[in-house]
Amino acid sequence: MTGKVWFVGAGPGDPELLTVKGRRLLEEAGAILYAGSLVDRAATLFAPPGCEIRDSKDMTLEEMSAWLLDQTARHATVVRLQTGDPGLYGALVEMTRPLTAAGIEWTVVPGRSTVRSAVPGVSSAFASAAAAGETLTLPEVTQTVILTRVAGRTPMPPGEELEALAAHRSTLCIFLSITLLHEVQRALRAAGWAEDAPILVVQKASWPGEEKIVRGTLADIKQRCQAEKIASQAMIVASPALGAADWPTLARSKLYDPAFAHRFRK
Ligand code: SAH
Repeated sequence: MTGKVWFVGAGPGDPELLTVKGRRLLEEAGAILYAGSLVDRAATLFAPPGCEIRDSKDMTLEEMSAWLLDQTARHATVVRLQTGDPGLYGALVEMTRPLTAAGIEWTVVPGRSTVRSAVPGVSSAFASAAAAGETLTLPEVTQTVILTRVAGRTPMPPGEELEALAAHRSTLCIFLSITLLHEVQRALRAAGWAEDAPILVVQKASWPGEEKIVRGTLADIKQRCQAEKIASQAMIVASPALGAADWPTLARSKLYDPAFAHRFRK
């Protein structure tokens, strides 16, 4: 057997937010290793009968790589199902490197697997904005989105401290940081954000029946999250564009402005 491992972005939790390609790969899979802490088991809903399904939450990276390699000896399609998009905080490279290394070694044994592909997914950053009916960019307000986190056990590289990134006053989607809201508040204050700057927190964005949306300000977002008992699986969005749906006036997007001609509209 010459199996292939596919790294598939599962989307934020709602199984309907899987890509069509991701769903097809699940339907063909002989084995699926899914990220149990965040991917709703419903995401494995599409696995065929007899498919070997394993939750990775108690496994080390080495065990995961070994499991995936082992499955390629028995199945043509092996899926590693990751939350959101595999390219964001997904340990993708750590997982693919040992596989690739093994694949190169195996080229001397023709017919063993190589591992090179990933399938993108809807990131929770986008699912969170969508859940709250918010836009991450807005003409003449912010045209930039920064996807980041604050330092936990993983330190931030120099120059990427939240305080420095927040100085841009653009949209910040802050992953993996809900237990560090005090640090988010400290950084935004240090960067000069006002106490009444709007902050959005979405827990389990898109999860049917479990999604929670909390709106607050820099001053009170922590208390509001505590009141809602939100301590995990949440996205923090800080952006000058939050709440724009209710603003009395907006700068128009040039793309749809009648006074602005472009390639498709003279
Ligand atoms: N690759 C994933 C992110 C994995 S890191 C993606 O693209 O979404 C895990 C972090 O993602 C969590 O700490 C949380 O900040 C965020 N997250 C993942 N799923 C989420 C969801 N459904 N709702 C809100 N935040 C989520």
